[in-house]
This record gives sequence, C-alpha cells and structure tokens, in this order.
Amino acid sequence: MNTNSSNTMALAPSTSNKRETVCIFGTGDFGRALGHRMIQSGYPVVYGSRSTQISNLIPKDAEVLGHAEAAQKAAIIIVAIPRQHYNFLTPLAEVLRGKVLVDISNNLKLNQYPESNAEYLAQLLPGSKVVKAFNTVSAWALQSGTLDASRQVFVCADDVEAKQMVMDIVRALGLTPLDKGSLLAAQEIENYPLQLFPMWKFPIILSFGLAIFFFFYCLALDVIHTYIYENNNFSFFIAFTIPNRVFPVMALILLALVYLPGIFAAIIQLYRGTKYRRFPDWLDKWMLCRKQLGLIALAFAFLHVVFTLASPLRSFVSWRTSNRIVSQALNNQTQPLDHTNAWLSDSYLALGILGFFFFVLLGITSLPSVSNNVNWREFRFVQSKLGYLTLILCTAHTMVYGGKWFLNPSAYKWYLPNIYMLSLVVPCAVLVVKFVLILPCVDKPLTQIRQGWERNPKYSE
Ligand code: NAP
Repeated sequence: MNTNSSNTMALAPSTSNKRETVCIFGTGDFGRALGHRMIQSGYPVVYGSRSTQISNLIPKDAEVLGHAEAAQKAAIIIVAIPRQHYNFLTPLAEVLRGKVLVDISNNLKLNQYPESNAEYLAQLLPGSKVVKAFNTVSAWALQSGTLDASRQVFVCADDVEAKQMVMDIVRALGLTPLDKGSLLAAQEIENYPLQLFPMWKFPIILSFGLAIFFFFYCLALDVIHTYIYENNNFSFFIAFTIPNRVFPVMALILLALVYLPGIFAAIIQLYRGTKYRRFPDWLDKWMLCRKQLGLIALAFAFLHVVFTLASPLRSFVSWRTSNRIVSQALNNQTQPLDHTNAWLSDSYLALGILGFFFFVLLGITSLPSVSNNVNWREFRFVQSKLGYLTLILCTAHTMVYGGKWFLNPSAYKWYLPNIYMLSLVVPCAVLVVKFVLILPCVDKPLTQIRQGWERNPKYSE
C-alpha cells in the first residue's frame, strides 16, 4: 500500500470530510485525470491497480491498492479500464456485490459489439449496480480543466439510486449531468464520441458539390466563353469575381433548401390526409439538418458581403471606372443619370442589406444559448416567419440584380442561362408553393391535419 500526501491539497477542504471515498480501477490516462479532479473536489480517492507501486503520475493524496482491497474501501467504483480487460473483474464479483460500478469506456468503432460495454459489465457482474457516465469527457479536458466544449456528462443506469449517486459526483466535479434513462441508452451514449459531425455530413457534401458545380459553370461562361468568342483574357476572374458570384447563389439556394423540406412535408400530409404516417427517410434526414444548411448558407452570405465590400479595392474595378471617365472626357460627353438604374441599384443594395440583417438574426437565434431562452412559439416565429421574410428579401435582391438578364439574349452563352437565373429556381418555387399553402382553402385542412384530424382514419392504424 502506498499513500502520497505532499503538496496537492483538496480545493474544497471544508467539505472533503463529508465526501465518500471513491475507488478508481486503472491508473491509466483517464483514471489518473478523473482521480486528480476528484481529489481537487474533495473526494478521497483510492486506486485499484495491478501494480501498487507509486508513480509520479498518480495524483498526490491518492492511495494505490490491489483491486479487491481498493474496492472494499468505497461504495462507488469507477472502472477506467478498456472493455477487453473486463474479464479480470469476474473473480471480484463477491467484493463488488451491491456496489455501484461506473462504466466510462468507449469503443473504437460505432456499434462495435452487439451490446453496450455497460450492459456487458452488468452481465458479467449481475450483483453490482452498473452506471454509464463520463465517457464523453476526455482525460485531457478533465486534467487541464478546459471543459468549455464538453461540460455535459450523459448518465444512464437501471438503478435510480445508483444513478443519482453518480450524478451527484458529476455535479461536485463542476460538470453537468444529463439523465439519459436506463442502461438501454448506453449504446447510444457510447456512440457519441465516435460520431464526426453527424448532422453536418449531408449539408457539407451538398454545399461542396453545388459550389464546385457553380464555380465551373461560371468559369465556362465568364472566362472560357469570353476567351474563345471575344478573345478577352479574364482568367483573373477565378480569384474574385467567380467566387463572389458563387457565394450569393449558394447562400440563396441553401436558404431555400432549408424551407423546401417543410413544403414537401405539408404536401405529403395534405395528400395522405393524416400526420400519423412517417415521412420518407430522406425527408426526415433532410428536416434534421436544416439548421446546418442554414448556417452554411449564412457563411456564404457573409463571404459575399465581405467580398462585395472589398470590391472597390480591385485594380480591375478602378481601371474600368477610370476608363469610363476618360472616355467620357475624350468624347466631351457626360452620361445623364439613369433613374431606372439608380432605383434598381439602390433597391438591390437595400434588399441585400435587409436580407443579410435578418439572415444574421436567424443565425443568432439558432445558437443554443439564445434558443434556450425563447419558448417554442417564439422560436417557431423567428425561424419560420423571419426565415421566410429573409428568403423573400434575398430572392428579391437577386431578382433586382440579375432580373435584367432574363430577356437579354447575350446572357444565354452557349444557350445556358446565367447563374443568377439558375439561383432563382429553387427559392421562387419554394415561395410560390408556400404562398399556395397559406391560402385559407389549403391552410385550413392542413392545420386540421396537423392538429390530429384524419381524412381517412384507417391510415392511423
Ligand atoms: P489506458 O491509459 O490504456 O489505461 C488503461 C488502464 O487499464 C491501465 O493503465 C491499467 O491500469 C488497466 N489495465 C490494462 N490492462 C489491464 C488488464 N489486463 N487487467 C486489468 N487492468 C488493466 O486507457 P485510458 O485512456 O485511461 O482509458 C481507460 C478507459 O477510459 C477506456 O475504456 C476508454 O475508452 C475510457 N475513456 C478514455 C478517455 C480518454 O480521454 N483517455 C475518455 C473517455 C473514456 P493499471 O496498470 O493501474 O492496472
């Protein structure tokens, strides 16, 4: 046995005598980091290890004993050992009977085993009360105290009292316990740390694919076509002009794609005459990643704003402006003010600024710290009503800017429509169908369906 009692003092000495001893099996990275934090929070810690030799890495003030001896000293045992070694616990079944075993383990792959590690532990030791916790917190974050991103600790167990004891420890460590119910939830909790931005995959792939498509579309029409037919080398458009054409188009299309699944859902519900049938899987998945689509759209809108503000700094723009002035001077002619153009450019700018303002507002309200402070009705109001207002403003902004090309034959290079025309297809379709859906003759049955009414009750079986 070894006791280390030098410098590190418990941070909560006044309460340390009230805290119960906690046993940690395993002196690996996680066991040491958790032990360190527990000692700081006033918990006496005893380690159960294969080797009782003290090392500098082990937190000071902690005891290191053999597994059986350590387990006898505490009611709660944290198993900081990988699942593949759990077999060593079977001979300790009698010592561990009635004790709370906290499974903190993770796997290397999603759904690696048929049952969760916590359920496996419960099967190995049926006399113990197994609680799943701490697996989403990293050893590094625990030790360094940088827990800003991962303060939540998911806890689940079949024994309510055992779960409560572990949740009390979680709170005492300055973390936030989140009750996930029975041990059945353990598999889901074990999968959390293995997921890589699960909700972002589809929006990112879609945005990337669309952005690449529009980039090459612009490249073909604005650079290659101009080079072939007008013998003008505008290859420098690749750096600034083309990105600043792609960004607003992407922002508008992605924003429309946030509202399109809602339109599909309404049409499906109207067609089926019930809300009690599941939407197709693709629609469900699409609806779940609307926030991510909206945030990517906002990022594109932001880039568009920055690029546009930087536009006057470009040498191409100053060359074009000075050229125009010089040619007017040479011809001794000043162009009269074109009132239509002045109106169009002012309206286009005003619509863009307002659209961006509401876009930012939507983004801010989707932040958890903000959305947690509004009720469901307020959240719906902002995301739906203000969202549609943003879509209307951004669509109008694009229409005013690019509308003139619809009737201009020079816009159809290689018989292809200009990028601005393409960008208007989805938003206009969404807005037109939405307008139809809010007509009283359509809105009334849809509202009834959403309140539970069924046209043909057999669907609700
Ligand atoms: P580790 O550094 O490899 O430590 C594992 C410990 O398990 C060893 O130090 C050893 O402790 C014990 N052990 C190894 N083989 C054993 C055997 N055959 N029989 C009995 N005990 C054995 O691993 P770790 O990073 O601390 O991770 C431990 C568990 O925490 C894993 O299940 C992991 O998924 C989970 N986890 C880790 C992190 C993290 O950030 N590291 C985060 C969340 C969850 P003794 O030498 O003292 O016996």
